[in-house]
Amino acid sequence: MKEKIYTIPVTEVFGEECECPMCLLEKRLEDEYINYFLGPSLMEPDCRMDTNEKGFCRRHFQQLYNSQENRLGLGLMIDTHLQEQICRLKKAYYQVEPGAKAMSGNPFARFFGGKTAAASGCDIAKILKLLNALECSCSICCKLDHTMERYLDVIFYLWSGEIEFKKTFESKKGFCLKHFKQLLESSEKYLKAAEVNDFLNILFNMQMENLARIQQEVNWFTRKFDYRNNDAPWGNSKDAIPRSIQKLKGYCELK
Ligand SMILES: [Zn+2]
Ligand SMILES: [Zn+2]
Repeated sequence: MKEKIYTIPVTEVFGEECECPMCLLEKRLEDEYINYFLGPSLMEPDCRMDTNEKGFCRRHFQQLYNSQENRLGLGLMIDTHLQEQICRLKKAYYQVEPGAKAMSGNPFARFFGGKTAAASGCDIAKILKLLNALECSCSICCKLDHTMERYLDVIFYLWSGEIEFKKTFESKKGFCLKHFKQLLESSEKYLKAAEVNDFLNILFNMQMENLARIQQEVNWFTRKFDYRNNDAPWGNSKDAIPRSIQKLKGYCELK
């Protein structure tokens, strides 16, 4: 049996009524990490080095700010993150490979029609590479991905070893598309070869059935706007829009 620290959260979220148990798991972790990054992590040098390097994605900056907790802590992280990024960008800008200047002239000219003369000799590819990497780097996303991978392992472990969990899994309403994809991708990694087909059949059928269900619920939501359906019951369609968005894109903070 795996450590309980991993199995309990999995069995808990699979016991909940929802569009995607893995989103619930991810949301719980995300809340925990937001508190961690605004609290204990600030005093850990390794963690500060990580946030200096990676920073946060837009979603997690929003959550860190909107939590209204520890503005000083958030300020400290942003301060040293900015210092490091300024340093890295300057380094890329001023670092000239021998001969690069003579060969390429002004590398910005290609992008700005020769209007700037400021960057003579800089390595624009290196700057773009830095900016591209920074755009998709996030200390919280990294930590989430790592732990969610551990939970995937646990889900497959429970599915193949615990008959009760297998039954629960099959009774769910499927997953959001992101987690559906992760389950498809990981099945060969975590299951025995003989189990993969069985798992894929169950997962795919469950997912299709529930995508069709939610599409019908959204469809009925739209038809309720027809005055002829005024008196017809809503059924499950009242909140079909937020649930369908979650099914398509994973957990969203919809107001
Ligand atoms: Zn999900
Ligand atoms: Zn993130």
